[in-house]
Amino acid sequence: MAPSVAIAITRHSSAVNMRALLEWFKENARPLPWRISKVTPWESLLAEVILQQTRMETGLPYWERIRAAYPTPADLAKDSEENLLRLWQGCGYYARARNLYKLAHTLDGAELPTTYESLLELPGIGPYTAAAVASMAFGEPVACADGNVRRVISRLRGEHLTDSEILREATTLLDHQQPGDWNQAMMELGSLVCTPRNPSCEQCPVSPECLAFHTGNPEQWPLRRSTKQTHIHATALVVSGEDGILLKARDGRVLGGLWGVPYAEGDADTQTLLRGRTAEKIGKVRHDFTHKRLEITVYSSPPEDDDILLNPDSVPLATLDRKVLALHKGHQGEQS
Ligand code: SF4
Repeated sequence: MAPSVAIAITRHSSAVNMRALLEWFKENARPLPWRISKVTPWESLLAEVILQQTRMETGLPYWERIRAAYPTPADLAKDSEENLLRLWQGCGYYARARNLYKLAHTLDGAELPTTYESLLELPGIGPYTAAAVASMAFGEPVACADGNVRRVISRLRGEHLTDSEILREATTLLDHQQPGDWNQAMMELGSLVCTPRNPSCEQCPVSPECLAFHTGNPEQWPLRRSTKQTHIHATALVVSGEDGILLKARDGRVLGGLWGVPYAEGDADTQTLLRGRTAEKIGKVRHDFTHKRLEITVYSSPPEDDDILLNPDSVPLATLDRKVLALHKGHQGEQS
């Protein structure tokens, strides 16, 4: 454990000492596609939008697929939102895809704007994404503050900081000559070394300037934000026949634009959902969103005359519905 000499560490470490971070980044950065060969600003934006809320291993194939399908925003604007959502299936947080589609239409054939302020005006682009693209694609000296940066800075300073204080600190530390590399280095440090649990302080290039390291208990920062999950009981109905499955277009902020099986939350809506149907209970599926955990009881039912059945591969489905359909398929396999 490091000696408790925090008192001897100055409040603001110098930018010169922090240069060690850029050296570390050059030697240790993961060989991500955009670090190996040059990518366009549009491809850079696609990567930021996808990877901000999706893990790297999961998100990279989506990035490859979507940039190949839509090499420019104009290519995306020419296609349908449904086709984009189909490519996005399984990546989660579908509002990102819908906003990307709006963004492509907003550009109306033009290139991406080149400054932080103008990027920020585009649909679905928040301060983090605008800063990432402006600094990495256009070299504008603007700091990124994602969860990794928040953790690194909280620990460097050894105190709980508000979001605006984190951004101010990140801006103070930013290397104006290499803002893109600097931002990536801060985030890479948070991903690889300054991890939420068991940070590898002994391998950290900025440990001499880190107050948390010198306290011997870096994990106490940043303070955890509470993410209370509501538990909800829901019902899904799989109506299947020779022509496919009964699927409906979903609406709402989370799953709008995707398709799914008939679904209800709460007793009254469940009764309405099943009314008049010969339905068999076939099992349960659990699905987590950030703030809610769904426990879904799944029923199976034969189609009625006016049910329109579709091939589930022909429409974009949410992960939740794919889980429900996988359960149904397994059940059918057991019956045959
Ligand atoms: S010394 Fe440890 S706590 Fe401080 S920034 Fe490095 S990894 Fe994080």
